Amino acid sequence: MPLGEFELIDRYFKPLATCGDSRRDDVTLGIGDDGAVLQVPPHHELVMVLDTLVSGRHFLPDADPHSIAHRALAVNLSDLAAMGAKPVWALLGLSLPASEPAFLERLVAGWRELAAPHRVALVGGDTTRGPLCLTVHLSGLVPTGTAIRRSGGAPGDLLYVSGCVGDAAAGLAVLQSRLFAEREAGEHLVRRLEYPTPRVALGRALRGIASACIDVSDGLAADALRLAAASGCGLEIDVDALPLSAALRNTVAIEQARVFALQGGDDYELLFAVPPGRVATLNAEAAGLVDITCIGRLEAVAGLRLRSAGVTQGAEPGGYDHFGS
Ligand code: ADP
Ligand code: MG
Repeated sequence: MPLGEFELIDRYFKPLATCGDSRRDDVTLGIGDDGAVLQVPPHHELVMVLDTLVSGRHFLPDADPHSIAHRALAVNLSDLAAMGAKPVWALLGLSLPASEPAFLERLVAGWRELAAPHRVALVGGDTTRGPLCLTVHLSGLVPTGTAIRRSGGAPGDLLYVSGCVGDAAAGLAVLQSRLFAEREAGEHLVRRLEYPTPRVALGRALRGIASACIDVSDGLAADALRLAAASGCGLEIDVDALPLSAALRNTVAIEQARVFALQGGDDYELLFAVPPGRVATLNAEAAGLVDITCIGRLEAVAGLRLRSAGVTQGAEPGGYDHFGS
């Protein structure tokens, strides 16, 4: 390796202990000792999440390290968002084939650009030589008892999703030359895959409003069914209401756009349930953060049903392509 392990930590990772221009006061001891020492404020609980990204499995082997770092942090921020937590501290487990400065500079820049606005401090980690792999562990805070779970929904609760769905899966198809898109639309779709926007502010705003929440990582239908099952419910999704981006609509037929939206993963939008009596509060609190769309509701009968053009049919989460054809 051109750079030794400790030189590498000092040069690239220690600077990520600060978030942009600021330092977190709740870090008593960060990178450089055997462990980090951190201060949990009174009357708060810690929410911990971890996600691993493996080269060739979670990102293409030739992906830009800037985007890899963004995604590794973003998917964890998205998990904290789904819990309603405020992100605070990160640990980074990094396996690297070689310590190439150009690669590391891009990686660190991608991390910093997302960590700084969310005020996430890197407080430790581990660095080894091996196939490219990033494991990120994030800690977040919630006032005691306020974390949003998947399990709090009830029949009659309305289901909402943030942003647009289906873009990331279409972006992957564009990258892999399985789908042709016009230049501008293609760039939008690929960007949504490589630079997902974790809905952290929305997640925190949903505390006390959403009865249940999950982030969409494996596909809207599958994740919605998980939320419903955890809440002891089934659900109906109004397929005609799914929020689809102009880029997706301009690239594929509407039926295909809906398949991407229901089955495609990696969107990292929030899917959440809201009791009808809290909808006015929801609209007031979410206004100005990100668009949200009501796409269905929880029901007492287990399982997934899809509704389109006035017809409702039972469906498997991955079985949408048979719907309506
Ligand atoms: P130890 O051998 O005691 O586990 P290391 O030599 O692995 O410690 O790490 C030295 C310090 O550098 C520790 O504070 C550790 O948390 C930090 N560190 C190592 N790798 C990373 C990384 N990829 N990102 C952030 N901090 C790291
Ligand atoms: Mg040690």
